This record gives sequence, structure tokens and C-alpha cells, in this order.
Amino acid sequence: MTLLEIKNLKKSFNKNTVLEDISLQVEKGEVLAIIGPSGSGKSTLLRCITKLETPDSGEINFDGTFGLVFQNFNLFPHHSVMKNITNAPIKVQKRNPEEVYKEAEALLEKMDLPDKKDAYPCELSGGQQQRVSIARALAMNPDILFFDEPTSALDPELTGEILKVIKDLASEKMTMVIVTHEMNFAKKVADNIIFMENGYIEEQGTPEEVFQSNNPRIKEFLGKFN
Ligand code: ADP
Ligand code: MG
Repeated sequence: MTLLEIKNLKKSFNKNTVLEDISLQVEKGEVLAIIGPSGSGKSTLLRCITKLETPDSGEINFDGTFGLVFQNFNLFPHHSVMKNITNAPIKVQKRNPEEVYKEAEALLEKMDLPDKKDAYPCELSGGQQQRVSIARALAMNPDILFFDEPTSALDPELTGEILKVIKDLASEKMTMVIVTHEMNFAKKVADNIIFMENGYIEEQGTPEEVFQSNNPRIKEFLGKFN
């Protein structure tokens, strides 16, 4: 079942065309990794899908709920962990607060943060903040979870704990779209990989297909990670 379908998406900022022509599909339960050089339009693509930007033309067909996890966590600094997680489900989704609190406690347990519900973001490590932001995204019961370089602001030892959380979500068949520079992770966890460059999808396929591609642009890009 196709959850998200994008056709001929185009987006410019003034005269700078950032997304030239992007078409893709995401199936239920799929993990899609998006890789590519800095400035290729990966964040803009996620921001168009999640309605933080308005595309110039093209189609985005998705009528579910999404969760978004950013590179820099983007937690509300003046809200406790609990309030960060429960605010949108209660205020935006108008769900029963008691039920939302219960779910939030279970999510904190799952993220291995059971005793942090009253803490403020500044009292947590980067890895803990990112796990709170994943809990916050999951609290919306999203159909698709989007990640924009979720480990890029983290030290290597904290990166591992976030990648493990994402891997566990993948094994629960959570549908995810992950922009990442963690090539080994993408190879292991993604069902499909998209390589973007200059606003185009230069190559897409299974990890085997993309990592063994003879396309010189991909070879050059992947070569930088070896
Ligand atoms: P990536 O995430 O692949 O590094 P981005 O989507 O962030 O790429 O950026 C692609 C291009 O779009 C860059 O040249 C960037 O400067 C430009 N860009 C992104 N957002 C904006 C914006 N809000 N206003 C103007 N230019 C932008
Ligand atoms: Mg980006």
C-alpha cells in the first residue's frame, strides 16, 4: 500500500531552483533513506512533504499524520520533557489528556528515559534530547516518521544510541523516511535508498543497487565515506 506519492515536485527560492523534478513513492512499512551531498535539496524535500515549505509545482499525495525529527532536536526549551511530548497530541489532535500522558510514559520507557519526564531539555545530553524528540514525534501516532539528519549534531557514541532506536522502529515496521550521512546504517536498515544531487534523484533502488552502482556521481560521493 502506497502511503506517500510525490510527482514532479519543484521548488525554488528566488532564482535558485532547489528541487528540479522529484518523483517518489513510499510504501507502508518501508524505510527509505535519502542520501546526497550538502545543498542537494534533501531538507527542502522533507520540508515540502511536511508542509513547512510550499512547493512551486508538482503533487504530494499523503493524507496521514506525520512526525518529524530534526538534526537539532528542536525541543521547546521552556517545556518539560512530558510537556514537549504531550502538547501537540492534546492541543492539536485534541486527544484525551489522560490517555496521552499514559502513552507518553510508555514512550519514555521505550526510549529508555523513564525518569526524565520532569526534566527540561537543557538538563539532558544530546542523545537524550533526540530520544525525547523521537518520543514526541511518535506521540502523534504518525503514519510516517521523517528524520532530517537525526545524528549529525551528536558525538559518535551518542549517534549509536539514536541509530539503535531507529533500527528498533524499523523492525516494528514503522514507515520512515530518513535523510542521513550514516552510510553503513542506510545500507543495513533501509529498504530503498534515494541518492539526490542538484535537486534531482540521481539514482534510486535497494541498498545493493545503489551501493554497487556504476554511476560516477554516486561512486564519488560514497568514496568520501570510505
Ligand atoms: P540539503 O538538506 O541537501 O543540504 P537544503 O534543502 O537544505 O539541502 O538546501 C538546498 C539549497 O536550498 C541550498 O542552496 C540552500 O541554500 C537553499 N535553501 C534552503 N532553504 C532555503 C530558504 N528558506 N531560503 C533560501 N534558500 C534556501
Ligand atoms: Mg539538510
